[in-house]
Amino acid sequence: MTITRQDALALDARDPLAPLRAQFTLPTGVIYLDGNSLGVLPAVAPTRVAQAVQQEWGEGLIRSWNSANWVTLPQRVGDKIGRVIGAQPGETLAGESTSVNLYKVLAAALLLVRQQSDAARRVIVSERSNFPTDLYIAEGLARQHGFELKLVEPDEIAAQLGPSLAVLMLTHVNYRTGRMHDMAALTRAAHEAGSLALWDLAHSAGAVPVDLNAADADFAVGCGYKYLNGGPGAPAFLWVHPRHLQRMERDDLWQPLSGWFGHAAPFEFSPHYRPAGGIARFACGTPPVLGLTALETGVDALLAAEALGGMAALRRKSLALTDLFIALVEERCAGHGLALVTPREHALRGSQVNLARADGGYAIVQALIARGVIGDFRAPDVLRFGFTPLYTGFAEVWDAVEHLRQVLESGEWQEARFNQKAAVT
Ligand SMILES: *Cc1c(COP(=O)(O)O)cnc(C)c1O
Repeated sequence: MTITRQDALALDARDPLAPLRAQFTLPTGVIYLDGNSLGVLPAVAPTRVAQAVQQEWGEGLIRSWNSANWVTLPQRVGDKIGRVIGAQPGETLAGESTSVNLYKVLAAALLLVRQQSDAARRVIVSERSNFPTDLYIAEGLARQHGFELKLVEPDEIAAQLGPSLAVLMLTHVNYRTGRMHDMAALTRAAHEAGSLALWDLAHSAGAVPVDLNAADADFAVGCGYKYLNGGPGAPAFLWVHPRHLQRMERDDLWQPLSGWFGHAAPFEFSPHYRPAGGIARFACGTPPVLGLTALETGVDALLAAEALGGMAALRRKSLALTDLFIALVEERCAGHGLALVTPREHALRGSQVNLARADGGYAIVQALIARGVIGDFRAPDVLRFGFTPLYTGFAEVWDAVEHLRQVLESGEWQEARFNQKAAVT
């Protein structure tokens, strides 16, 4: 049965989350399907950031550390993010990049394993197609601390969960395939094997429901500039299960970046490090106040969904958007060599749909961008489309596929001479 644009408009008309879009400023004439790479601008961000610059910085100056609560920003924003990832207050900290946060929590995980296990437990297992920075950080730590990083395909993970496994380090939703892991099942299996489970939520936080405590995860990190709409280079976040925070406290274990903001009393200026209690021990240096201020507006916009059913409602819409996109591509773009990379099964799908094409993928994405339909390309052959249920509508999905159909049928992507430089993000 043909899906018409009228059908898509009807879905928008009865979408209970549609009002959330008004919280964002999107350029006219653009269908934005790249919120998984850089989220859009929260409408209040320019005034909120200007206020932080002009009043808090310009007038408050040093006093704003207290009067504007700059000191507690990492915890406050962390706790807000915690609400969409199944964290309790005091378990999540915002700041630094995802890469740096991963360094801190993976190093802590290795330390805990070392302290508790025999030396045979020395393998970090991850997915070969995990996002490279995660693998690089793990590779570096493995070299430094005498561990081995073993990379496998998703269906080979189960076979790795044995006596040599130290940490299972996975990204919940894969950036190239859009495939989602079963966090609770894999964490349980990792624990049964005597190891720890660390999750990267870069493509999950704000996109799919996550419950770190229910899954009994050990550590997690995630990104602020994707589905949290925190702006370019936004601070990331980290999460640590309270049992590990307590054990680190009890056994005086330090995370490796033992900077003064993670000190129990930074303003005593003691020559010796003494870690703060709780999640604060994972802080390092002075927090990025302006970045956190912008990030907070993005997280607040996401939390506005709590009144409309929260992440469960966002998930329903996300699946409806990606189902519609898949159905329309198959109906309207058949015969053009596009293969579905992302799993059809809902339980295995994140909030993106990726298509593979043997050649021309980059030029097709560029032709779409020229028409105002912004997705992205991941070498060698993946056309990637992210769907952010906070602000993406059903008619936009229909229009995006119609543009794709026209690009493919007109062959305009072949005529244009596009610069084959690598995509940046
Ligand atoms: C986007 C992304 C990152 C980004 O890391 P940065 O340190 O912010 O550059 C890391 N890991 C994964 C899985 C990502 O998708």
